[in-house]
Amino acid sequence: MPKEPVLEIRNFNVDYGLGDQAVRAIRDVTLTLHRGEVLGLAGESGSGKSTLAYGVTRLLPPPGVISGGSVIYHPPGDQPYDVMALSPAELRKFRWAETSIVFQGAMNSLNPVHKVSTQMLDVIRAHEPQLSGPARVARAQEMLKLVGISADRMDAYPHQLSGGMRQRVMIGMALVLEPQIVIMDEPTTALDVVMQRQILAQLVELRERLGFSVLFITHDLSLLVEFSDRIAIMYGGRIVEQARSADLYKDSLHPYSEGLLKSFPALRGPRRELSGIPGSPPDLRGMPTGCSFHPRCPHAFDRCSTDIPVLGVPEARNDPNRSVACWLPGRVPVA
Ligand code: ATP
Ligand code: SF4
Repeated sequence: MPKEPVLEIRNFNVDYGLGDQAVRAIRDVTLTLHRGEVLGLAGESGSGKSTLAYGVTRLLPPPGVISGGSVIYHPPGDQPYDVMALSPAELRKFRWAETSIVFQGAMNSLNPVHKVSTQMLDVIRAHEPQLSGPARVARAQEMLKLVGISADRMDAYPHQLSGGMRQRVMIGMALVLEPQIVIMDEPTTALDVVMQRQILAQLVELRERLGFSVLFITHDLSLLVEFSDRIAIMYGGRIVEQARSADLYKDSLHPYSEGLLKSFPALRGPRRELSGIPGSPPDLRGMPTGCSFHPRCPHAFDRCSTDIPVLGVPEARNDPNRSVACWLPGRVPVA
């Protein structure tokens, strides 16, 4: 697995609202996406996954405010820079050409009155005006073919395509400028499970051919276990565990990750008993003290309600590829 970073999110904080009214939705998140990897980000609804994706690409709508941290992008063969320091013009270029994002419900954002090929051509024209007309058409056709839209469907209007095909078009649009990073925020929830798996499998295959990195956001951990290289788990705006997918599946260390794994049926391998996680996610206006998971945690003890656990390499595993934020014996960080 390549270890070179492509995006380093460091001590990142996001608030909703200002002054006394502000609530913190992202709390001191540090997360690295490596070149060529698929990194999964999982957590229940409200854990902060979308806020993080919007924040790092500086697409956060008000009342969201980035209240601290940096996001260092490493262009191939060039000097790294902080996305937080880019001018609006630089940002526009960064967003499509270096990073592209497929947000929730994006498949419904295709313009209903234009053919899909026309919409793809518009993206290419806007960002690569130097390309000739025929070269643009060739690029659009090649990309649609890559994502599995056959030549006879290229001139279809969005309503003539199934949900799965519209999703493929969105993925094609996200890839057409050959970005280094693709962020997908739960792009497949409106589709059935079989279709979700097909689209993810295709994305992983395209990643192998085109070499981009993927940050894939979902609440369905079983999908990530199957398709991502590493997984980060979010709870209450913090990363609470990070591990290679296989390690997380076999040996999750955070009680919240364990609960999430038991909330979804495994797509492959032995069946697990499904139980879900009792209680509800925390309210940003009244975050529990100490470990914010303590009111729901079956293993909570005294220290959990007073001290915030630090994310770090757990004593008992001493594996630099793993980190967890929990006070249980053996899971506290190596000093
Ligand atoms: P989902 O899977 O449902 O999209 P998520 O993990 O992506 O959830 P976010 O949508 O990022 O979570 O929300 C994180 C927290 O920020 C939630 O507690 C949410 O209520 C809060 N939040 C999101 N948008 C706003 C807003 N515009 N104003 C105030 N709070 C908000
Ligand atoms: Fe549970 Fe305590 Fe670990 Fe939090 S720190 S996950 S409450 S055991």
